[in-house]
Amino acid sequence: MTATLGEHAAGVVAPDGINGFYEPVPEDNVPRLRRAAGTAGIDVAAEMTHAEHVAAVRAGEIGSMHSWELVTAVDGPGTRLTVFLAGCPLRCLYCHNPDTLKMKDGEPVAVDTLLARVRRYLPVFRATGGGLTVSGGEPLMQPAFLGRLLRGAKEMGVHTTIDTSGLLGTHASDALLDDVDLVLLDIKSGLPGTYRRATGRDLAPTLDFSRRLAERGNAMWIRFVLVPGLTDAPENVAAVADHVATLPTVQRVEVLPFHQMGRDKWDRLGMAYELDGTPAPDTALVERVREQFRERGLTVY
Ligand code: SF4
Repeated sequence: MTATLGEHAAGVVAPDGINGFYEPVPEDNVPRLRRAAGTAGIDVAAEMTHAEHVAAVRAGEIGSMHSWELVTAVDGPGTRLTVFLAGCPLRCLYCHNPDTLKMKDGEPVAVDTLLARVRRYLPVFRATGGGLTVSGGEPLMQPAFLGRLLRGAKEMGVHTTIDTSGLLGTHASDALLDDVDLVLLDIKSGLPGTYRRATGRDLAPTLDFSRRLAERGNAMWIRFVLVPGLTDAPENVAAVADHVATLPTVQRVEVLPFHQMGRDKWDRLGMAYELDGTPAPDTALVERVREQFRERGLTVY
């Protein structure tokens, strides 16, 4: 597929690392970075007074968006409209999108504007079995907006996915989760100390959220970023795999190899980057980790 403004094919290599996102390892095992389209084609919300803006945000009528893109074979089944919301409470050492971390840095977008974009792609979703994916940042930073977006998509019969770290799982009401067909749950480490080192936050809320999702019957794809020297210890991977194996609604595990292609953003934002010199995992390491999941009966990509 030819990439056009606002519509980027999956697997596009982005040597400048702008707006890069981890994605599943392709068949040739070369990590890819893909680029989001910014807010091209999406009108920002009309100007309003501060009080009106606050009320609209609280009601979920307006959200803070970083970017969007149209992708195939990542972020869920079929061709997806992936919307990246702004704001994230984690501080992952390997984050490729440090410009998504602050909600105030996003663009204000009306939920109806995004739903109009979803409607435009209905034929594509129907033809490919795709749908809407809401990612970030962390989509559960904006639960009211997310809930409205998902509800509107479900009213159109669209398959819905959220991509979340699970840290803010308690922000997700049962009504919101009823409107989610698939959760991409990022479990960044299995040992609490490693999780804190990698993200700056606690592991327990993510595990709690995963159990709740399983009990509710929400389908999950688990994502694990493999970073040599940080998350690759056999006991850390085993802890993730042991936990995931207890979750009956997990459909697959995606092992995402770390790479340095988004590194420049940290400099541009004046943020200290700690993973200089950390290599991408080699094929043998990726295979060892995948096998740790496989040997627990999990389907691994
Ligand atoms: S969860 Fe981690 S990798 Fe994802 S946006 Fe937040 S800090 Fe970045």
